[in-house]
Amino acid sequence: MSQQKAQKAYDLLIIGSGLYGATIAHFAKKAGKKVLIIDKRPHIGGNIYTEKVKGIDVHKYGAHIFHTSNKKVWDFVNQFVTFNHFVNRPKVCFKNQLFSFPINLMTLYQLWDVKTPQEAEEKLESVRIPIEKPQNLEEWVLSEVGEEIYETFIKGYTTKQWGCSPKELPTFIIRRLPIRLTFDDNYFFDPYQGIPKEGYTALAEGIMEGIEVKVGVDFFKERRFWEEQARHILYTGPIDQFFDYKFGELEYRTLRFDTKTLNQDNFQGNAVINYTEESVPYTRILEHKHFNFTDSAKTVVTWEYPDTWNKNKIPYYPVNNDANNALFKQYKEASETYPSISFGGRLAEYKYYDMHQVIAQAMSQADKIISAC
Ligand code: FAD
Repeated sequence: MSQQKAQKAYDLLIIGSGLYGATIAHFAKKAGKKVLIIDKRPHIGGNIYTEKVKGIDVHKYGAHIFHTSNKKVWDFVNQFVTFNHFVNRPKVCFKNQLFSFPINLMTLYQLWDVKTPQEAEEKLESVRIPIEKPQNLEEWVLSEVGEEIYETFIKGYTTKQWGCSPKELPTFIIRRLPIRLTFDDNYFFDPYQGIPKEGYTALAEGIMEGIEVKVGVDFFKERRFWEEQARHILYTGPIDQFFDYKFGELEYRTLRFDTKTLNQDNFQGNAVINYTEESVPYTRILEHKHFNFTDSAKTVVTWEYPDTWNKNKIPYYPVNNDANNALFKQYKEASETYPSISFGGRLAEYKYYDMHQVIAQAMSQADKIISAC
């Protein structure tokens, strides 16, 4: 074994410096392993990457709000950065009217002028459309909250996000429709929430401190070479690409971001405003300075457009329908025949993970991966 070890430059090669790869690297280094991380992007951190523009941390790959109920994950990230007191309170703009969101008593007051939980419940009961066995997302939402809430908050936004009518989507896309009969507009229920004051890139740097990282390096450009470099490999890229798409391509939705620096100090007064009308092509406008309460003369604003995906675009959201899940199962089974390679993270597991979930998943897999090095 030790002879084999001497032949390789590293114990562990990690493909991808996103949160999954970074977290595994952190624990592998702590366990005394020699680790190399490569990433094809020109920077570390994967989708959580932030960059400073005019003193403002810009969330380059969309709004990222850290929230968790997992104390172990919260303590882990707090070793590296200080979190601010940001609480996600997005607003919705529909036909030039602004609404409080997620739907709460204030939203129902704005919609229907109801002022108490009882009035709201009575109104909701009167607008629900009885549908015995809802067959799709549209029918399910109509049966839960009626036409007006469906049109104002769900129909256009979902159509844009998924590129198809809610009639063609399964009900589980929205697992629950939280209507709060309180004035609580905190999007998340978790006890821990915030944004790193130093930016997410500092979080990624902290997790990977002391670990060798090469950016701008695509594993597939010199696959043979990289496979020779370490005793064990952790791959966090798209699983279908690893197998050269031999069973077929997994589908994703992507996003296009249009970011502008504006010569004014406050554009929309909030970090996130959702645009739910179908005729408005973007789904969200982000104003980055509000994530970090940055005091600056200028502001940086991003318009977020959902888009169809192809292999030249970044895969953001897996389309976990039955066909894609069955395809993924084939890749997963194939991956289990490679004892010297581990697979993990949102792309290799073809699964949407929030940041705290991907860290928790990495923590749960770290010992297994480290013992394989
Ligand atoms: P990634 O961050 O994608 O990292 C994978 C890395 O692998 C990438 O850097 C990629 O360049 C690299 N790679 C791939 N292929 C290769 C290759 N061939 N060679 C070399 N490198 C390669 N989570 C929250 O908790 N809160 C939020 O508010 C939130 N908002 C989000 C908003 C959007 C728009 C999206 C898409 C996600 C959001 N998330 C949020 C989820 C969060 O981004 C993920 O949980 C996290 O980034 C996943 O980390 P990862 O390491 O699995 O993947």
